[in-house]
Amino acid sequence: MIIGVLKEPLPETRVSILPEHVAIFKKINADVLVENDAGEKAYAPDDKYMESGAQVASRDEVLKNSDIILSLHLPSETESYLLQSKIILGYYQPLYHKDAIKKLLEKNITIFSIDMLPRTTRAQSMDALSSQANIAGYKSVLLAANIFPRYFPMFMTAAGSIRPAKVLILGAGVAGLQAIATARRLGAVVEVFDTRPAVKEEVMSLGAKFIEVEGAADASKAGGYAVEQSEDFKQRQKEKIAATVAKSDIVITTAQIFGKKAPVLITKEMIETMKNGSVIIDIAAATGGNTELTKNDETVIFKRVTIVGNSNLPAMMPSDASKLYGKNICNFLELIIDKEGKLNLNMDDELVKGCLIKGNAEL
Ligand code: NAD
Repeated sequence: MIIGVLKEPLPETRVSILPEHVAIFKKINADVLVENDAGEKAYAPDDKYMESGAQVASRDEVLKNSDIILSLHLPSETESYLLQSKIILGYYQPLYHKDAIKKLLEKNITIFSIDMLPRTTRAQSMDALSSQANIAGYKSVLLAANIFPRYFPMFMTAAGSIRPAKVLILGAGVAGLQAIATARRLGAVVEVFDTRPAVKEEVMSLGAKFIEVEGAADASKAGGYAVEQSEDFKQRQKEKIAATVAKSDIVITTAQIFGKKAPVLITKEMIETMKNGSVIIDIAAATGGNTELTKNDETVIFKRVTIVGNSNLPAMMPSDASKLYGKNICNFLELIIDKEGKLNLNMDDELVKGCLIKGNAEL
């Protein structure tokens, strides 16, 4: 069994596995073939992969000689002839890239997308959505602190007092909870809103205030994900959010609905009420954004408010992002490769079935 590792297209800086993961494959009798410079942007040069027992080769050789090919992003259609009858495994977000996925499926390529893993306890060690969202939450606050023209913590100095920054976080999933913890560590006062009342306790235990809006739709049967809300709820939510946005210095938005466009929670009018120098970091930018003015992968300045739509915050921390993602990938591969290095696809396993894109009903 040969596992191939592709170099990602720019501006991606992460890589599917680091040299430290190669030893895990050796244990299951799988060899690793890495494309030249694949880990360079994550500070993992070719010689480190070779020292750990991997081989380094050209992209064509990796595509031709590997049985399973790892890439965070989908390989291009022009390369698909080299992938026929092979397996590719990555973070492909198939529900948002349906056309590209369909074209690859037509070429008889078996696609596993790790972000489609069911969010169960057994899946936690492979949950790349969580490992990467955690980084996005952390980086979002650091980025906001860098742009914000004032302090985060409170200070009493001889030259005067500084009031702590007010941070509003919309969506308390994995990214939101990490954003709360990071903003609190920096000394900000944090308020949080989520449609899932179940997160209230967690939010409060991190030292933030939970904003309540009664009557959210029941999401208990949605596998932990949020569901779409009624018009009446949306209106009441909008009023509460508007009042809080106007008082906030920093807004971090993370609200997503699995497989759908992100809800617009912050309107242009709300942004107009924000103070000069305020910052919004929209982590949901890639799926449409939570503000009316978000532009994916762009920073917009509107009436002295900066709105950052960087949708790949984990790429700002490529070493740890690749370290955690790589471990998620290794754990998943150990499910589908046996100890002799042979492919063992157990389609009765909900984790294997969940990540397999072929025949996925939602596509
Ligand atoms: P996500 O990225 O899908 O969404 C982020 C947050 O936005 C969620 O908390 C969601 O409730 C919230 N949201 C959606 N619409 C909103 C709206 N209109 N207003 C305000 N907030 C809104 O979330 P995620 O981090 O991927 O987590 C999804 C679920 O999976 C959570 O329930 C989480 O606890 C669960 N989870 C389970 C595991 C596991 O057991 N393996 C691991 C990680 C996450």
